[in-house]
Amino acid sequence: MFDTHTHCRHSHDSKEDPIEMIEYAISQGMDYLAFTDHFDGELTFLPEFDYIPQIDLENHFDEIRALKERYKGKIEVGVGIECGYMKEANNLYLSKLSGFDTDIIINSIHTIEYEDCYMPSYFAKRTKSQAYGAYLKAVRESLDCPYHFDSVGHIGYVVRKSTYEDKALVYKDFADIIDDILKTIIAKGKALEINSQSKGTGLDFLPTTEILSRYKELGGELLTFGSDAHFCGRIGEKYSLVAEWLKATGFKYLFKYLAHKPIAVKL
Ligand SMILES: [Zn+2]
Ligand SMILES: [Zn+2]
Repeated sequence: MFDTHTHCRHSHDSKEDPIEMIEYAISQGMDYLAFTDHFDGELTFLPEFDYIPQIDLENHFDEIRALKERYKGKIEVGVGIECGYMKEANNLYLSKLSGFDTDIIINSIHTIEYEDCYMPSYFAKRTKSQAYGAYLKAVRESLDCPYHFDSVGHIGYVVRKSTYEDKALVYKDFADIIDDILKTIIAKGKALEINSQSKGTGLDFLPTTEILSRYKELGGELLTFGSDAHFCGRIGEKYSLVAEWLKATGFKYLFKYLAHKPIAVKL
């Protein structure tokens, strides 16, 4: 069992001590835990989010790297970051991340058309088709970013705070762009993340099983597992459920990342 996507107190929305998280992961029998704290560089281009502090990258990477050394032999600690994609932030990520020795970088969409899709206002002024369509367009665009990343975070995130009566993001409604996204992920050798933080979506995990099955059909193999835990109790949540579903669907491996190399873990 392992987890490639978690947040400690280096993220503005977590208070958790990374040592406690590592100890918790060890107690659960895990052999790999990555800290992928938020690098919300895109918010520096949106003045209304000035109140959200930016991560101290040096401190984050130094501390997690020190913990990686300290826990060698007990658990593999992944040094990571989660970038919030926005075209305007490309150069920021490119220049700020190049000097650090990291294991895994997750590229995620949290803002769409300069708005935070956690806010009801995002949905109020759009039809479901517009809101989800713009989200998927942003995901597709994020795959062409100039900075390095390993996995594509939580596809379907837009559904979490969606205000429509029927929230479901259905493959057939967006088949062309979803296919384009999945084919591009495969062609670029990136991993598709399975994220077990599915609160508000009515699903067990993201993306939907329909999208994951389509990924398999198109030849996709690289998959990471991430809980997106912001506190100890959620680390590794639903790993077994995800692993069982993948096995039953014909997938053979999940992958964790060290020094940006995928390491296959047999299901
Ligand atoms: Zn995220
Ligand atoms: Zn996250």
